Amino acid sequence: MKRWGKVMSIALAAVLAVGTLAGCGAKNEGTAENTQGSGGEAKAEGIIGKIKERGKVIAGVKYDLNLFGLKDPATGEVNGFDIDIAKQIAKKVLGDENAIELVEVTSKTRIPMLQNGDIDMIVATMTITEERKQEIDFSDVYFTAGQSLLVPKDSPINSVKDLTADSRVVTAKGSTSAKNIREAAPDAQVLEFENYAEAFTALKAGQGDALTTDNALLYGMAQQDPNFRVLDETFTEEPYGIGIAKGDEEFVKLVNETLKELKDNGEYDKIYEKWIGKKPE
Ligand code: GLU
Repeated sequence: MKRWGKVMSIALAAVLAVGTLAGCGAKNEGTAENTQGSGGEAKAEGIIGKIKERGKVIAGVKYDLNLFGLKDPATGEVNGFDIDIAKQIAKKVLGDENAIELVEVTSKTRIPMLQNGDIDMIVATMTITEERKQEIDFSDVYFTAGQSLLVPKDSPINSVKDLTADSRVVTAKGSTSAKNIREAAPDAQVLEFENYAEAFTALKAGQGDALTTDNALLYGMAQQDPNFRVLDETFTEEPYGIGIAKGDEEFVKLVNETLKELKDNGEYDKIYEKWIGKKPE
């Protein structure tokens, strides 16, 4: 009896194994069909295919930038200009603006995360630069900022030209801000942090005399803490683009179409006004 039982259990295990394999095969076929069937397009490969297959877009966004991508620790919700733009892309691909997962990136981690396939796109205050174009592709420009300085209300600093060898300027690693400030104020000491939350905390703790990044982001910080002010002057141009892994023309095209539609139907202006507080120029 014992022996017979063993034979039976081996047989059962074999049946289960075959069943599992067959199941896998069926699932794969089904998935391939879905991919081809969706939208009736012959080609639903690449990122668009991946998004449709999983039923959601995975967007890399900031969690620590008021107005652009800020996580509310109480609700866990992430909100901002970039989030609203990212949701519109989800709407375009899947017909549902909430079919989206928002994953935190920093200026330093966003390109590697995109290249690893952890995220489908970067919608995270990212400037289009020639250097970055070597590594990833970009959509058309969807926002234009310029680099400036955030200083304590009573600071004597009123221009980037006021920064001397004694000035400590804080910013985030991997940003154009860290690079540009070294050119604009070659004598100043530049302290780089993992992200903007840490840089701002350092400024508030008196570890820096100024924080430098894009003016639009600095306005968000000044709104969070009125002890600081943003200089009027900008000393760079920072056109933001949505970052996409290299070589997926279809997805770049779809993102650009979405941006154009948003501009044409007035939705872009609404999102802009909601976060920036004025109409786009
Ligand atoms: N737009 C600049 C950049 O892409 C500064 C903001 C950021 O670090 O995301 O580097």
